[in-house]
Amino acid sequence: MDEILTRKLHELASNCGADLFGVANANDFSEYTDKHNPYFYVDSAKSVIVIGYQIGDTVLDALIKPINGKGYVYFINEILGNIAHEIISVLLLERKKAILSPNNGIFAKDTAVLAGLGTIGKNNLLITEKFGSHTRLRTIVTDAELCKTYGKPKYFCDNCSNLCWSACPANAFSEGRYNKGACFEYTKSHVKKLSENAILGCRECELACPAFAC
Ligand code: SF4
Ligand code: SF4
Repeated sequence: MDEILTRKLHELASNCGADLFGVANANDFSEYTDKHNPYFYVDSAKSVIVIGYQIGDTVLDALIKPINGKGYVYFINEILGNIAHEIISVLLLERKKAILSPNNGIFAKDTAVLAGLGTIGKNNLLITEKFGSHTRLRTIVTDAELCKTYGKPKYFCDNCSNLCWSACPANAFSEGRYNKGACFEYTKSHVKKLSENAILGCRECELACPAFAC
């Protein structure tokens, strides 16, 4: 395990503004297949890095339409992508393979849990002690043998009356678990306009969650 490189990447991520940094072992993902498995990206993968950024202001979660551009850009994704790019550059200089997983690739929340950063709450979001549900994540797959991170994350939901479920305008938790179809259907048809070129999706289950100590 390369402790020095792990520390260097952690410091780099923090200096670039990342609020969370964790490492899971590639072989922790044996139950995941195809694009959700690290070996899909790097056949000699050893580690999966997860970085997170706190949504300290709603605007960070906006989808922005570039003037004369096509489609929307997810603002926080651009920030995380830039931090990931810095990490990947260092790994490539170390002659390691490193690939940024697409958003629909490696499950970033699961990686954060495997890296000991937090737990998955009943709102289906990562909950960390410092930032509650208010983070967004990206993952990088590499063949560098980094040191896995560990934590003792707290599970908040046992002492809560499912405030996230009650807050959901789409009743996406009516069967006691997250219904992605119901959530997406509602979110698509209820975007909030922030400005001429910026929209926001639903965050009710996130905002209702009291697990936030920041
Ligand atoms: S609102 Fe309550 S039940 Fe829902 S994720 Fe937060 S702590 Fe858990
Ligand atoms: S994002 Fe909105 S619609 Fe989707 S589960 Fe959360 S509260 Fe429900």
